[in-house]
Amino acid sequence: MSDTMPRLTDLTLAEARRALDTKAISANELTRAHLERIEAKDPRIGAYLHVMGEVALEQAEAAQRRIDAGEAAPLTGIPVALKDVLCTVDAPTTAASRILEGFRPPYDATVVRRLRDEGAIFLGKANTDEFAMGSSNENSAYKPVRNPWDLSRVPGGSSGGPAAAVAARMATISLGSDTGGSIRQPAGFCGVVGLKPTYGRVSRFGLLAFASSLDQIGPFARSVEDAAMALQAIAGHDPLDSTSNPAPVPDYRAALTGDIAGLRIGIAREFTLEGMEPGVIAAFEAAVARLEALGANLVEVSLPHSGYALPTYYITAPAEASANLARYDGVKYGLSVEAGTLRESYERTRGEGFGEEVKRRIMLGTYALSSGYYDAYYVKAQKVRTLIKRDFDEAWNRVDAIVAPTSPTVAFPLGARSGDPYQMYLSDIFTVPANMAGIPGIAVPCGFSEGMPVSLQVLGPAFAEPMILRIAHAYEQSESWLARRPESAAV
Ligand code: GLN
Repeated sequence: MSDTMPRLTDLTLAEARRALDTKAISANELTRAHLERIEAKDPRIGAYLHVMGEVALEQAEAAQRRIDAGEAAPLTGIPVALKDVLCTVDAPTTAASRILEGFRPPYDATVVRRLRDEGAIFLGKANTDEFAMGSSNENSAYKPVRNPWDLSRVPGGSSGGPAAAVAARMATISLGSDTGGSIRQPAGFCGVVGLKPTYGRVSRFGLLAFASSLDQIGPFARSVEDAAMALQAIAGHDPLDSTSNPAPVPDYRAALTGDIAGLRIGIAREFTLEGMEPGVIAAFEAAVARLEALGANLVEVSLPHSGYALPTYYITAPAEASANLARYDGVKYGLSVEAGTLRESYERTRGEGFGEEVKRRIMLGTYALSSGYYDAYYVKAQKVRTLIKRDFDEAWNRVDAIVAPTSPTVAFPLGARSGDPYQMYLSDIFTVPANMAGIPGIAVPCGFSEGMPVSLQVLGPAFAEPMILRIAHAYEQSESWLARRPESAAV
């Protein structure tokens, strides 16, 4: 390729699709370009826990045959990174935990199966906070991920690997999971698009469970259009997940009209904080002004209970996690430490296999569920959760969507918050309300502060993915933030 042509690793999904279909490039070239880039760049970034080089090259051959036969699906030949909480039959799946070191699932997650059936290319399993618990990816038992914009900073979490891989052009798109913000926050920190679908829109079958009433799988991409295409491939009912929703899947790309004139966009007073970074406020305000200039009507709304979302989340999510993680006992799979008695073996396996944050969550959750505290903590949190959801339901009578900053700060330096769980939990303050209410949210780049990306979050009613995609896309088209690429020396 000549210097004036974009590098293969720079192509968006939509661009790569055209280039593959017109035979301007081959699936093999596209795959190799990504594998070479991973080899060259990832040692300094740490986005991958396991690179699936051989699988990827085989998939590229099969994808090419399909393209040549004129039978390409939208993701045929597209290089993808998969967060390592998604089960894959042909690669280890560890949730970045020692307790699952080397574990090979006997089946694919439904989203993995769908991408496989479309002929996507699996580049590898992406790094994450252990069991998706964290906001900085520093809780990975194997290695931290570094932010491609500044290697001294975190990429966000828990899907730090999928976000950094897409930002650093080491994958065209990726899949992550979002329980309290783990797609949107790292997308924001890494300057890419991240979409958390409505609870139930995407099957959770084969997703290593963290908090089952909150977990949702979604895509990372370098454009809103790409995010729409990726969601199209994974959304829809799955008989293997009883919480997946049977509602028909709309054509997400068709929603990207570029026109948001007359839409009512809500601004919630509660999505501002004392001590918020001035650069984040400035970028958010400029984005809101841009939405207004594009013809949207701005409406002030109130979500009076959203201030309780964070404490409610940090009861609900650990409570569910403590139950979900009970299965890692060293008997059925993963790490197994031999000891004199079964009980001792449980204790030593879990004591050695789980990291500090995971243990903290299990203890918090077990406490919140224990008799005597169950009503005071867990049941109370469920009631507050209903109030949070109701606030949104009322807001939807007045607005089509709500915008907010994705996070109160830009990406922070590695180590800056790892000693203080409360400070770390505060990173999620603007993202957890959507999980508590089960609604969709998309993070889209909206400027820079301290040289680091700032992100705009668009929230909508349940199953209004077309609406939030449409708003994010119209905004994105009016700006050029996504055209900027990480410039740090390593990238
Ligand atoms: N950062 C939040 C937590 O630590 C959210 C994690 C997630 O969405 N998986 O729980």
